[in-house]
Amino acid sequence: MIQVNDVGKSYGNLAVLQDVNWTVQEGEWWGIIGPNGSGKSTLLQLISGVEKMTSGDITIKGKDIKGYSRKVLSQMMAVLEQDGLPAMDYPVRDVLEMGRFPFQDWLGRDQVDHADILIEGIMARLELLELSDRSVAELSGGQRQRVALGKVMAQEPQILLLDEPTTFLDIHYQLQFMELVANWRANSGITVIAVLHDLNLAAQFCDKLLVLQEGQIAGMGTPQDILTESRIQDVYEVDPVIVNHPDIEVPQVLLARSKLK
Ligand code: ADP
Ligand code: MG
Repeated sequence: MIQVNDVGKSYGNLAVLQDVNWTVQEGEWWGIIGPNGSGKSTLLQLISGVEKMTSGDITIKGKDIKGYSRKVLSQMMAVLEQDGLPAMDYPVRDVLEMGRFPFQDWLGRDQVDHADILIEGIMARLELLELSDRSVAELSGGQRQRVALGKVMAQEPQILLLDEPTTFLDIHYQLQFMELVANWRANSGITVIAVLHDLNLAAQFCDKLLVLQEGQIAGMGTPQDILTESRIQDVYEVDPVIVNHPDIEVPQVLLARSKLK
C-alpha cells in the first residue's frame, strides 16, 4: 500500500530523517513512536505530500506520490492532528460535510449520491446526532476530536494518518477515540498510521510499531517485539518496567520517578 524507499529529509543542514525504508500493507494499523523531535510528524507529512523529501521516494499503491494530484491524494488519504479542529463557529453537521470537499466539483456538488446517508450514518456511529446543530466552538475537547474524526470519516479515505490524536483527551475519550478508529477499520479495511506518545495505547491498538530515533528507524515489529525494557531505555532514556496486561496480554509500560536516568 505504502512503500517508503531510502527516504531522507533535511531542513537546511539539519537532517531530520535519514535512510527510512518502510512498507505498510493494506489494512494494517501502524503506530509510530519515538521521542520529541525524532521526525515522526515529518514522516507523516512526507507521506501525505505536504512536505517534499530530500532524497528517496514514496509510492502509494505502486505509484510515486509525485505522480498523484493533490486532489487525488486528499481523496485517498485523510490526516487528523492532535487538535483536529479549530474551535470554529460552525454546526457539527456542516463540519462533517466539509469532509466531502475533495469529492465535490466546482459547484459544490458531490460526485457520489450517497453523501447524505453517509454523513447521517457517521453521526449515528459517533453519537453526534444530538450535537448535530451545536457549534463546534461550544464543544469540549473530547467532543470536538470526535467531530474531527467524523469529518475524516466523511472523506472515506483508504489511508488514515493520525498525529498524536489523543494528546489532549482524558482517558475516557482517549479510549473512545481509539475504539472508534478500530471499529472504522474493522468495517472498512482502512489502513491506519498513527503517531502516538502513549505506548500503552499503541500496544493495545496497533498491529505494528515503527520506532524513530534521531530521524532513523530504531526498530519495527509487533508491540511484543518492540516494547522491551532495553529498547525503551535506549530510545527514551528512562528505565521502565514492562508488564503483560493481565486481561489482554499486551505489553504495558510502567514508569517510576526514581528510575528517570
Ligand atoms: P516529532 O514529530 O517526532 O516530534 P518532527 O518531525 O516534528 O518531530 O521534527 C523533527 C525535527 O525537524 C525537529 O528537530 C524539528 O525542529 C525539525 N523541523 C520540523 N519541521 C521543520 C521545519 N518546517 N523547518 C525546520 N525544521 C523543522
Ligand atoms: Mg510531532
